[in-house]
Amino acid sequence: MKKNILGSTGIEVTELCFGALPMGPRQKNMSVEDCTAVVAAALEKGINFVDTAQMYETYAPIREAMKITGIRPVIASKSAAPDYNGMESAVNEALKQLDIDCMDIFLLHSARAGEKVFEERAGALQCLKDYKTRGLIKAVGISTHDTRVAMLAAGRQDIDIVFPIVNKSGAGILNGTLKDMLEAIRVNHAAGKGVYLMKVLAGGNLIDSYCECIDFARNIEGYHSIAIGMVSLQEVDFNVAYFNNNYDPKKTPTLKGYSKRFQVFEKLCKGCGHCIEACPNYAIDFDEDNKRAVINESRCLTCGYCTSACPEFAIRAI
Ligand code: SF4
Ligand code: SF4
Repeated sequence: MKKNILGSTGIEVTELCFGALPMGPRQKNMSVEDCTAVVAAALEKGINFVDTAQMYETYAPIREAMKITGIRPVIASKSAAPDYNGMESAVNEALKQLDIDCMDIFLLHSARAGEKVFEERAGALQCLKDYKTRGLIKAVGISTHDTRVAMLAAGRQDIDIVFPIVNKSGAGILNGTLKDMLEAIRVNHAAGKGVYLMKVLAGGNLIDSYCECIDFARNIEGYHSIAIGMVSLQEVDFNVAYFNNNYDPKKTPTLKGYSKRFQVFEKLCKGCGHCIEACPNYAIDFDEDNKRAVINESRCLTCGYCTSACPEFAIRAI
């Protein structure tokens, strides 16, 4: 499979990155054994780049897949920790649970944070920089849905990697348009940042136009890798074949049999609003009449972040 160097980091990654979110408890909630089998298949078929996060709770299967295959991929993780101590704890958790000596990439997980993110989370970023200086992280970066944050990252010396949302319909992009995000990606690439893309299938909402979506992403100027969530051996096979330019259109993946809808269970919801704050896509509204949260499916990108934000466990995949 084609490989690219992530900007000036020197880290070489496959064009296809294994996205670990969907197999974990935020979405499909597969067993560690089943997740391990899927990650191991991805590594054996040549994918050398895995994207995960503290919030995804998928370190165990990645560790086990490395043990089974003897393959050590490039691993990117991220944390929404707001401050130095929280980020330090997140990095140490990753190192310990993955059983590795050094994180390749660690990001500020900041899906919906705005332009002040670098000031508001200066402590968390400082922690990542300190760990890089100590040789425990190779590259530091940010994940973002916000076009202005992506553009700001391009001008910062302390950011090596940018992980922006982008897809052909522009779904989930904040503070700007698809065109703005494409320009931010181009500028980051020109500035020597490593760029890998998230949600090119809009969280699965565009799965029925898989080929058009992936082709769109592969034509973006300035990307190095594309993260795609995978939950089965069939999906691994298909994605690998597609990125090797050797695919069978009859095997195009679908979400048939895999529910990707999220719903607030009205009887359990106490109307606290935590999920509204947690949703990176502003897809949860507050129903003033019933004092309950309601998911707007037309805006939901099925990330599952709201499920862990709800103290009442009122949000579930259906
Ligand atoms: S409502 Fe928001 S947080 Fe919840 S799954 Fe949809 S996009 Fe993700
Ligand atoms: S976090 Fe849970 S309880 Fe609070 S508003 Fe959202 S669904 Fe309701």
